[in-house]
Amino acid sequence: MTAFATHEVFNQSPPFEGVDLFAADRPLVEAVKANGGAAAEKELSEFGKAWGSAAMAERGRVANENTPKLRTFDSRGNRRDQVEFHPAYHELMAHSAQAGVHNSTWTADGRPAGNAAEVVRAARFYMAAQVETGHLCPITMTRASVAALAMQPDLLAKVMPVLSTRSYDPSFAPWWDKRGMTLGMGMTEKQGGTDVRSNMTRAVRDGSAYRITGHKWFMSAPMCDAFLVLAQADAFLVLAQADEGLTCFFMPRFAPDGSVNAIQFQRLKDKLGNRSNASSEVEFVGAYAQAVGEEGKGIRTIIQMVQLTRQDCSIASVGLMRSGLAHALHHARHRSVFQKHLADQPLMQAVLSDMALHVEASVALMMRLCRAFDRTPHDPAEAAYMRLLTPAIKYWTCKSAPPFLYEAMECLGGNGYVEEGILARHYREAPVNAIWEGSGNVMCLDVLRALAREPDAATAVLQALAVETKSLPGAGEAVAFIGKAFRRPDGERVARLAVEKLVLLSAAAALNGVSPRNAELFAATRLATNHASMYGAVDIEPSDTRALLERALP
Ligand SMILES: Cc1cc2nc3c(=O)[nH]c(=O)nc-3n(C[C@H](O)[C@H](O)[C@H](O)COP(=O)(O)OP(=O)(O)OC[C@H]3O[C@@H](n4cnc5c(N)ncnc54)[C@H](O)[C@@H]3O)c2cc1C
Repeated sequence: MTAFATHEVFNQSPPFEGVDLFAADRPLVEAVKANGGAAAEKELSEFGKAWGSAAMAERGRVANENTPKLRTFDSRGNRRDQVEFHPAYHELMAHSAQAGVHNSTWTADGRPAGNAAEVVRAARFYMAAQVETGHLCPITMTRASVAALAMQPDLLAKVMPVLSTRSYDPSFAPWWDKRGMTLGMGMTEKQGGTDVRSNMTRAVRDGSAYRITGHKWFMSAPMCDAFLVLAQADAFLVLAQADEGLTCFFMPRFAPDGSVNAIQFQRLKDKLGNRSNASSEVEFVGAYAQAVGEEGKGIRTIIQMVQLTRQDCSIASVGLMRSGLAHALHHARHRSVFQKHLADQPLMQAVLSDMALHVEASVALMMRLCRAFDRTPHDPAEAAYMRLLTPAIKYWTCKSAPPFLYEAMECLGGNGYVEEGILARHYREAPVNAIWEGSGNVMCLDVLRALAREPDAATAVLQALAVETKSLPGAGEAVAFIGKAFRRPDGERVARLAVEKLVLLSAAAALNGVSPRNAELFAATRLATNHASMYGAVDIEPSDTRALLERALP
């Protein structure tokens, strides 16, 4: 501690750095194991140490303080359309790529890797999100793009040798000449984001390719090597209703002849958070593109990608909450108030243990979902779980992160609110995960869509959850409530109510497979009664409180 001429600095918590983000997180270690990822413990611990280091925390801070800059023109008035990032951003990208966070769920030829690849990669994504989330935008989109590219096998075969490497190559060059590549996505236009059918961007055939003219109101990570873009294909515009032509296209930064493609960035968004990541407004001026999947099947194609980015929104949100909890608990164990550490004050214990319970259930649920992603190709029951619960879990985890981080921030008092610490950044970052890739209401409507389209599969998921939770308080009532609410003719009106109950039930079931005692506590405080609007407004026994906090951070 420093001694100034006027005073000494003491009773401040040391930085939460030099931590193994894997080993220090028992709920994570156990959830990875419970969902088939135990064999990867050693490599996850290495990743945890690298991302829990002071050097990585510093990269995160610097990449967010030195935000990306759009260089639209050069000094002679020629278009440049390039975005410059601070070296710290590139280092974060290189670290994530080197660990395969952008591709490890795929084989080198673009098939699902299986063998708990989703669970293991999710653990990495979750740890990286605790340190810096902005750079994870191109990382998640690259990983997810493979699912959409699979609809165009010849293109997938060409791209995979570059996409499947562990190299990060930030050079502005044609993707086929690079050591590694990243992909972005352009769907949202000014007149409609959720309602992509209202897209006005048009694609006109040009030999075997297309020329695309129009705009995107949001297109993040503009230095990606290619984008999957939705546009209306021309044949359909003549023959049918405009919205029937919506097609998915692969739009590279360089056309096949090596010239820079006609992708013109207008400006970068000035965002609440997510500062290290650039999000552009863009125009396409007859830009070269190739179709991905059939003409008119754009939504069906891009949804393959979006399902995976939704999963990642959820993982990142749980990672942000975990980081909030860990920083709060670490601080409370070092900071004394009225001659006692904060962590030993009963009311602070009530707050922290309730938060720990929320994170523990979220981690168990997220890992259970990733297991479903791992098993979906071979197991229809897991495919049904994945289809019904991905939007539900995205809804709950992403929407619960902002208030959670606000509470975590308050545990650090004034230090939590200033920009030197990471919690202010996490707090500004958190809301975006609920907005992009389908906002809250849209997720609830997607759950209703899954129920309507595959009612038997959805009912089987609910029945399995009922069996897994049958000994837990409030679970039987929750199952009955969900069944009834989803059958109501005005189901859309009560969708948030029903989806929230469904997620709480699923979280209790997932936690039961990791820590039965904590599943009981979770059910008692969230299913048997409605949880109060503030953390800590629960009655958890001191022995359970101690156990929860010990598990959260030894
Ligand atoms: C930082 C950032 C980066 C982004 N990057 C990208 C990107 O790279 N690529 C891309 O394509 N997009 C991107 N987006 C856009 C994002 O996906 C959209 O903003 C989002 O899908 C919502 O669309 P919208 O903004 O048009 O809102 P709207 O579609 O107008 O929705 C507004 C609200 O209405 C609700 N709503 C919609 N339909 C219904 C309904 N039927 N019933 C009840 N409520 C409803 C929604 O839940 C939402 O809360 C980004 C957004 C942000 C903030």
